[in-house]
Amino acid sequence: MSAVLVVNSGSSSFKYQLIDSESEESLASGLVERIGEASGRTSHRGPDGTSERTLQIPDHTAGFRAMLDAFAEHGPSLDENPLDAVGHRVVHGGKRFFEPTVVTPLVEINIEDLSDLAPLHNPANLQGIRAARAAFPDVPHVAVFDTAFHQTLPPAAYTYAIDAGLAERHRVRRYGFHGTSHKYVSEAAARFLGRPIEELRQIVLHLGNGASACAVRGGRSVETSMGMTPLEGLVMGTRSGDLDPAVLLHLARRAHLGTDELDELLNRRSGLLGLSGRGDMRDVRQAAENGDEAARLALDTTIHRLKHYIGAYTALLGGLDVLVFTAGIGENDARLREETLEGLGFLGIELDPERNAASDRGARVISTDGSAVTVLVVPTNEELEIARQSLQAVARERAD
Ligand code: ADP
Repeated sequence: MSAVLVVNSGSSSFKYQLIDSESEESLASGLVERIGEASGRTSHRGPDGTSERTLQIPDHTAGFRAMLDAFAEHGPSLDENPLDAVGHRVVHGGKRFFEPTVVTPLVEINIEDLSDLAPLHNPANLQGIRAARAAFPDVPHVAVFDTAFHQTLPPAAYTYAIDAGLAERHRVRRYGFHGTSHKYVSEAAARFLGRPIEELRQIVLHLGNGASACAVRGGRSVETSMGMTPLEGLVMGTRSGDLDPAVLLHLARRAHLGTDELDELLNRRSGLLGLSGRGDMRDVRQAAENGDEAARLALDTTIHRLKHYIGAYTALLGGLDVLVFTAGIGENDARLREETLEGLGFLGIELDPERNAASDRGARVISTDGSAVTVLVVPTNEELEIARQSLQAVARERAD
């Protein structure tokens, strides 16, 4: 049995999952966190149980050593499940990376070069890649980019209407994110319905802490709500989403906020948190049910923005066949799905209240049998998609 190790690395933590290359089953998963702090922590779930450990983890390299100890102790054995590949989530691939790419020193330099577009994410992703390559020097490492699925956006969709020369020099354009999830979910939806993806016009709503919508025609992303960074688009847990850019100018002039403060405001203190004081949708919903008006407004703003995007993307696609909800909120919050689709009967969207309220876990239809648009809930699985794409990249390279 061989496997793929999927790594999602942040600056002070990384998550991992071991996925069987054949059966696609998850064999183990874990988290190494508080890297660089006085006391770090690992948690690991394997076939022989779970473990939690507190120890000092000075850097990512030490983090991978701690992960290997956890595998040795709680399984599965990496000798009995040799790695076909290590797949790394990388947030920003710019316009250079349009497919999963086997990591070489040059690829590392290119990921680093894109750090000015994703200063929080790419350097952290790269730390994970470098440490993992040191831990597994004989295994191919593959970078799987969040932006790659959106490389099919037409120029009219990815262009901001600003000075073209300036935009070109500073790589200012829309790139889109959550691509791994949008690809996985749109393909899983077509498979679930037993319909060829080439025929389908789909909207995928990935609603987690970060949230984005994607219009998918024939399996290709043609429009998505996140832009040059993951800030644009829907109302998110702590991010504002769409905003008149002049708001920034106004706040800079009148409230004397500098660039770092504006960055912090829009990325970390806006969205549900900024509106209601709560960034987690479960808390917002609970508060709204208890009569909290700010929480109700946060929900209404979220829903208004979602309707706006569903309408816009249906127009761009020239009609709609399938609408899919996914991620933490999309998969679990039936009330939000219901409120979002209320009044969209004119688009051919008819929700079945009972199907929508059922607490099944897998992929399921939640529209009526007569609904012209099939509405689905499809659980996302970004780790599995990264594992699949990593194996494909390795196979492609071997064939070259
Ligand atoms: P991430 O983007 O961090 O991967 P998730 O996809 O796990 O996030 O989504 C997290 C969001 O999902 C949180 O806002 C959380 O409140 C929400 N969520 C999870 N379960 C439920 C639920 N049963 N009802 C409403 N929201 C939920």
